[in-house]
Amino acid sequence: MTAETAPIVAPELEAAGPHERRLTVPVKVGAVTVGGGAPVVVQSMTNTDTADAEATARQVAALARAGSEIVRITVDREESARAVPEIRERLARMGLDTPLVGDFHYNGHLLLANFPECAEALAKYRINPGNVGFGNKRDRHFATIVEIAIKHDKPVRIGANWGSLDDDLLTRLMDDNAKLPRPADARAVTREALVRSALLSAALAEEIGMKREKIILSAKVSAVQDLITVYAELARRADYALHLGLTEAGMGSKGIVASTAAMGVLLQQGIGDTIRVSLTPEPGGDRTREVTVAQEMLQTMGLRTFVPLVAACPGCGRTTSTTFQELAFEVQDYIRTSMPEWKKHYPGVETLNVAVMGCIVNGPGESKHADIGISLPGTGEFPTAPVYIDGKKAMTLRGPSLREDFKKIVEEYVARRFGVARAGAAE
Ligand code: SF4
Repeated sequence: MTAETAPIVAPELEAAGPHERRLTVPVKVGAVTVGGGAPVVVQSMTNTDTADAEATARQVAALARAGSEIVRITVDREESARAVPEIRERLARMGLDTPLVGDFHYNGHLLLANFPECAEALAKYRINPGNVGFGNKRDRHFATIVEIAIKHDKPVRIGANWGSLDDDLLTRLMDDNAKLPRPADARAVTREALVRSALLSAALAEEIGMKREKIILSAKVSAVQDLITVYAELARRADYALHLGLTEAGMGSKGIVASTAAMGVLLQQGIGDTIRVSLTPEPGGDRTREVTVAQEMLQTMGLRTFVPLVAACPGCGRTTSTTFQELAFEVQDYIRTSMPEWKKHYPGVETLNVAVMGCIVNGPGESKHADIGISLPGTGEFPTAPVYIDGKKAMTLRGPSLREDFKKIVEEYVARRFGVARAGAAE
């Protein structure tokens, strides 16, 4: 290859980005579409007692306002089932139509049959095939839930779970495996059982009369490599819409890292139509954190845009003060709290890029790549902060009002750029 014929950009670099989404059968959950090439849907789950309709509606509202597009609630007993229509009504009074999913275990067939208003108020039922019942009652209970879903025209999520795997299926596979000349290891057999549990249950639901466009599958595990392997296999064997989530991901950074490591790999391969990041909140912690993390995961991967992100350098020995970290946090917080209003007036504002950098080394360069960037003075640098707008140096800030001045510049830029977009779009 001569210098003339060599490509300027290596093909591998040109192809960088998430793989094409694997096309699944689309499922309508309320007004939200899951699968079929629709944007990956963010969902979450409450941790209130569902029987407490007021507290549950309040938490659903907080999750929905944080960006959860579907919210799951536990329906574990009669009091909870009775509260579901009231939760729905309370949300309607708050102007929220976020689809509610009922999480059923053991007695779901009874609760759905005995509380038809609950069955109607929910937008989807989640069934765990491993614990709908025991022995010969299992299929009967499962069939009852599916029949009620068909009657109310609701989709179901068939959610197999590593921690409550169908014992009969697992034992049968383990026995068959043991008879092989070269048996597979027990973990691989358990993965296979999980995949089969989800697929066999989906096939059973279809036999009962449920349409494929009413079925979402999940197979949750708590280990990253298991999740990747199991979902890759589910995606290979069927075209049902898939709900991704690492169960028992854990607390704090461990939960975030494990969830993003596992789901990031699958999403990059085009696998996954809806996600939940299952974080254990710290005592008194904010439940909406799992929604923010899910959104940030999708946004940083380039799969969706929800809110303008602030790029900030990590800081180093060239920044001995905390000024730039404080400004980065303050600006991100300011943007998040402004978003509900901004979204109403400035369509497209979620694509805004802001950079807050700590010194002259990478500051001006990184700031020029953002829509608006500020390069704060590092240690020993002249105490001024150049601001770049659309790649060009626009002004220099200094003095005690620097933070407020910068936020004002961001606000003005948003109004000018995205307000114009709205005016243009309306013409
Ligand atoms: S931009 Fe400056 S302060 Fe920030 S990490 Fe780079 S060298 Fe350090």
